[in-house]
Amino acid sequence: MLRLTRPQRSPEILQTKGHLKTQELCDLFDQSAPHRTGAQSFPIDDTYRDVSVRKALERAQHHKCCYCESKAPPLEVEHHRPKSAVQQTRDDAVERPGYYWLAYEWTNLMLACVHCNQPRVGSDGTPTGKGMLFPLADPTKRARSHHDSLAQEEPLLLNPYEDNPDEHIGYREHIPYPLTSRGAATIEVLKLRGKSQLARPPATWKQVQERLELLGSLADIVGGNEESQDQLLALQQECIEQLWTMADETAEYAAMVRAGLTAWGLPPEP
Ligand SMILES: [Zn+2]
Repeated sequence: MLRLTRPQRSPEILQTKGHLKTQELCDLFDQSAPHRTGAQSFPIDDTYRDVSVRKALERAQHHKCCYCESKAPPLEVEHHRPKSAVQQTRDDAVERPGYYWLAYEWTNLMLACVHCNQPRVGSDGTPTGKGMLFPLADPTKRARSHHDSLAQEEPLLLNPYEDNPDEHIGYREHIPYPLTSRGAATIEVLKLRGKSQLARPPATWKQVQERLELLGSLADIVGGNEESQDQLLALQQECIEQLWTMADETAEYAAMVRAGLTAWGLPPEP
């Protein structure tokens, strides 16, 4: 996971149609007991995933999943705080309504892959995907309506647009590991160490490893005439540039690549 920067200006449709729809949902909460108790679902339409929203997120995220950095389609516009219902853990009861008032909220929207976002059974037979999960350090402080403040919540799931994932998740080769409790919760919610998730980055990691091994073997070659030394330096430079390209924010699994380069003593360019 890599830190992201959200464009400050939200797409026009969220400010117009999205704003009106949000008003309607908030009025519904205030006026309708079945909606307040979760007996009836809120009528949330697909305005939040308008093409303009998708395009803005694609640019901000370099066409990658905000969580796992995969470029594998389909990437979906997803709600960081779930819109319809919410769960503290996979074993806890589903609470309704969810964060209905954030259904069209720009800062709550991001692009995520199906592995991270959709609840399903992974290839190892265990449940995977974020689904309705949004764990908090203290679930009693959860905002349950638009009348409550989100500021009282301490989310455990990292938000790459607000948090610095480097402070919470490290990598051993292609395998993420937690540095903090929030890192641990994020790995669990997204099942980043699950069989399905771990199956994807190894091809990229193998390319990194091959180049690092080549760099190591080039460093061992000493002596030779001036011409062969120049060739050696050129090869080393080419190798380093390839690695830096793989660590670029636009590249797939860049956080993993950066961690690998740093561990090797070749921190990527800032
Ligand atoms: Zn993902």
